[in-house]
Parts: sequence; structure tokens; C-alpha cells
Amino acid sequence: MNLSEYIRNIEDFPKAGVHFKDITPLLANSAAMESCLQQLTALIAGQKIDKVAAIESRGFFFGTLLAQKLNAGFVPIRKPGKLPYNTLKEPYLLEYGMDALEIHEDAIKKGERVLLHDDVLATGGTARAACNLIEQLGGEIVQCNFLLELEFLNGIKKLRAHSVQSLLKY
Ligand code: AMP
Repeated sequence: MNLSEYIRNIEDFPKAGVHFKDITPLLANSAAMESCLQQLTALIAGQKIDKVAAIESRGFFFGTLLAQKLNAGFVPIRKPGKLPYNTLKEPYLLEYGMDALEIHEDAIKKGERVLLHDDVLATGGTARAACNLIEQLGGEIVQCNFLLELEFLNGIKKLRAHSVQSLLKY
């Protein structure tokens, strides 16, 4: 199934100059969801994964499904102030602004094998910050995978130390 048919382009959202990739048409179609999950799982086939860490909020849609498929635990990486227990915090630069991410300090054990997942790789700042949090906890990042990558923003440069896979490239 060609998943690009289920990705909608929204110009100038959330601000002028941003070509936003809207995945809600994909989420709304059960066959497309199933195919997307199978394709994401295939990217990491044959590798043992202890935890799937995903980035708030659109990373959560497939992050939890991937964790179930891979018999792994799920770890939410969230915006500041959302996680209730003790956290580590990492600031980062967005394609459209500045933000920070947090992870629970006990979410990943030293040496655990982690798959990082998000919907979109744009400038790479978000995924880099998430990788930093995982590595501060002693996790080993096996792969960073994305539904889609905006290649012209070269986010992959920030993730050079890791294996990066995306289903669609723009
Ligand atoms: P970045 O840190 O620039 O790689 O941005 C990645 C994060 O921002 C992901 O969590 C995406 O959900 C979101 N994002 C950034 N740019 C876009 C875009 N053009 N379309 C959809 N989501 C985006």
C-alpha cells in the first residue's frame, strides 16, 4: 500500500513557510494503519528491542502499536510538566520554535535496547533531544524510525551516530 496517498500537505501550518504533513487521513483508515504498522515493524525486523520510546504526541499513535508488535515496553517522551514522576529534561530547537522534552528517570534501564519512533523527521532537533535523554539513562539506541522524513531539512545529520529509517521521504 502506498502510504503517501494518506498524507495530506497543509501549507503554512502552524506558521508561514512550514509545509505541514498531516497524518490524520492515515489514522482514519484502518487498512492504511495496519499497513503502516507492518511496514514500520519490517524496518526493525530481526532485532531484539526492550523499549520503544516515542515522542509526544504524534509519535504515540504508532509507538504503542510498535511496542506491542515487538513485545517491548513503551516509553513516552513528553513535553515539560506532563510526566508525573522524577524526570530528565532536554531542551531543543524546533523547525518552528524552541521546546524541551522530558523522560521519567526510571523509564529505561542501563543497557536496554531502544527503538526511538516519531511521525516526522524534520530538522532533527526533537529526535536528537530524545536520543540524548535515552542515552543519559544508559539505553542503547538500535534505530530511530519515522513515518516520513523531510530530506531537504537534513535532520539525519543530527542523528549521524544512529541507524535512521523512514517509510516515506519528501
Ligand atoms: P524536528 O525537530 O524539526 O525534526 O521536528 C520534528 C517534530 O516536529 C516531530 O515531532 C513532528 O511531529 C513535528 N514536525 C516538524 N515539522 C513538521 C512538518 N513539516 N509536518 C508535520 N510535523 C512536523
